[in-house]
Amino acid sequence: MSRSPRGGVAPDGFRALHRFGQNFLVDRGVLEDIVRRASIGEDDVVLEIGPGQGVLTRALLERGCSRLHAVELDERLRETLESLALREPRLCLHWSDALRVDYAALDPFPRKVVANIPYSITTPLIWTLLRFAGRGLRYHLYMVQKEAADRLAAEADTKERYPLGVTLEVMGGVERVRRVPPSCFRPRPRVDSAVVEIVLTRNFHLMEDALWSDMLHRAFAQRRKTLFNNLKGFGKIEDWEELLRKTGLDPRNRAEDLRGEEWLRLHEALRTSVG
Ligand code: SAH
Repeated sequence: MSRSPRGGVAPDGFRALHRFGQNFLVDRGVLEDIVRRASIGEDDVVLEIGPGQGVLTRALLERGCSRLHAVELDERLRETLESLALREPRLCLHWSDALRVDYAALDPFPRKVVANIPYSITTPLIWTLLRFAGRGLRYHLYMVQKEAADRLAAEADTKERYPLGVTLEVMGGVERVRRVPPSCFRPRPRVDSAVVEIVLTRNFHLMEDALWSDMLHRAFAQRRKTLFNNLKGFGKIEDWEELLRKTGLDPRNRAEDLRGEEWLRLHEALRTSVG
């Protein structure tokens, strides 16, 4: 076991780098739980972010998906992954930062994303992929840091509540599937992990409207402040207090107090006022 904060040794002696979030899954039981949970069928087009040495990649291919798009940033993994792709034509590799991929161009377009992702990009990655719910990418199964799983699934009135969690609530649902201890990875991360499942079913149009995420980020900007104090001055609204009351909200509430449907009402009121 490596104690180096910068990485450690992965299977096959590969030098794992901390900046790439490289903690490779080595536990067969967890791997099986993930692929079983994702219930990959023959016709599924799947997206994997950060295939690494291809452990999950191989398991997904074995389950029989029709195409697997895998996005990897670390060029040192080229040889390993390309030799897998050579044997397995359903695997399509994309060498890029997962936050910069032109997902719209993926052909055939994926319906599911199943991935043990680099933990540092969890929030921006999920925001990025949510934009494609309308195109059909509606099932997401991720390994994330345990605290991130808690935030993603956090309900109203909890201190873990944050803009992405609100958005997931109104677009579908999040379920924490299982905890995963550091011993299931090489090198071992210093944090606990968890598998989360996101199923998107509604309100996909919110991702086409920058006002939705701007409103949430503004409202949550300073957590100790009230909704009114965070929002005043936002969106050319003259009287925020009146707008909040008209929407049935108490201006003294904090952003974390609001339920998904209240956020939807506020967004609608804001949209119509902004014109
Ligand atoms: N899925 C593999 C590896 C997980 S580690 C397994 O379970 O064993 C995270 C992986 O994401 C690494 O392969 C790392 O190189 C890759 N990665 C890190 N940052 C990335 C980014 N911005 N875009 C795409 N891949 C990235």
